[in-house]
Amino acid sequence: MNAYIISIGDELLIGQTINTNAAYIGERLSDNNITIKKVAAIADDEKAILDEFKIAYETCEIVLVSGGLGPTHDDITRTCVVKFFETELIENAEVLENIEMLFKKRNRKVTELNKAQALVPKISTPIMNPRGTAPGMWIDKDDKFFVVMPGVPYEMKGMMEDFVIPSLTESLKNSGIVIQRRILQTTGIPESTLAERLGNIDELLQGSQLAFLPSIGGVKLRITTQAKSEEEANSRLTEIEQKIRAKAGRFIFGKDNDSLETVVAKLLTERDLKIATAESCTGGLIADTLTNISGSSNYFERGIVSYSNASKVELLRVDEDAIAEHGAVSLEVAMQMAAGIKATSGSDIGIAVTGIMGPTGATTEKPVGLVYIGYCDDNVCTVKKFVFGNERLLNKQRTLYAALDMVRKQLLGISLDA
Ligand code: ATP
Ligand code: MG
Repeated sequence: MNAYIISIGDELLIGQTINTNAAYIGERLSDNNITIKKVAAIADDEKAILDEFKIAYETCEIVLVSGGLGPTHDDITRTCVVKFFETELIENAEVLENIEMLFKKRNRKVTELNKAQALVPKISTPIMNPRGTAPGMWIDKDDKFFVVMPGVPYEMKGMMEDFVIPSLTESLKNSGIVIQRRILQTTGIPESTLAERLGNIDELLQGSQLAFLPSIGGVKLRITTQAKSEEEANSRLTEIEQKIRAKAGRFIFGKDNDSLETVVAKLLTERDLKIATAESCTGGLIADTLTNISGSSNYFERGIVSYSNASKVELLRVDEDAIAEHGAVSLEVAMQMAAGIKATSGSDIGIAVTGIMGPTGATTEKPVGLVYIGYCDDNVCTVKKFVFGNERLLNKQRTLYAALDMVRKQLLGISLDA
């Protein structure tokens, strides 16, 4: 089933209010495996609203509308619903009671304008609103669902959680279609290279869907499948996952909500290993990230932010001559920093980063984005060279993920070569 989200209100179009309702509704539908086809923001204008209702109702099985249900003249959503479904307004006793009760609680007299909010389109089932005066509307017609909720985010969220999401998931279940998703988290491989590795996508998916979701830490692969039972859907997902792993397994660090740092933390904890970090260009970001996880004292020994050349010599036992000869951003210095932090801290693993984050600092031989990451444990000392982009803060993030991934690969015995 596909969904169409419509947000109504002039304030959304002129940048006065950010359309957080659509984001929320989209997220909650997606959590429940409902695909969103379109999000539209529409002015408080009858023709524009009716036109949008038509497109939405023609193209999707689920239409979710929010906004414009208030009692004042500029709130015209209800009128539009009446016109669109060619129905009429009738008073609903339960809704009226709710409105009267709300006013009583606030010690105020019910206005005629508010009383009029108890008029609901005949075709709809009102959705009760314990948080405000405007009821929602639930219309179940032509095997489609048309849902209208107030614009006030807190009222809309209440209705979504209390009524809309449970009702939609129940209907999905009864329809005999199960939709399941699985996310495979990759890092260290660009979207296009990953797509190339996966080869013929149609052959791989056999009717299921695959979305590439890139972010700074890596590309998420989201597989969606439909089946007649949860079991069947899961076995299909597993089959696709296995095929993807066969082609790009070493780039996959986790599933669903895993983060790279939690995966690395788990590996270190399971193996009872301690890590220490020596960071130049990331200014402590790796230590910060590794210590965002509860229980980090089990695996994190120390982190040194070693920015100046003097501190590299003093704290990490880097050879002054190596800096003079190769520069602070070099394979040699990264290696010595990693070995130095391991030795001085007595940790099982030392990880070190040195690089040019930009936008200034490049030389003819050393471009902006050049980063060396050193790794040392009891068995190996190795350095990997990266060339990232021009954006300083993004480069710090990329260095972070590359360093964490290097630790992950070393611990799992995965080759570091691209
Ligand atoms: P009420 O019955 O309370 O008047 P309503 O359905 O008429 O509700 P609106 O008048 O459209 O809702 O909006 C009420 C408040 O909710 C406004 O402050 C508005 O900015 C906010 N709001 C409306 N739509 C959205 C949205 N899509 N995202 C975030 N906030 C919204
Ligand atoms: Mg409004």
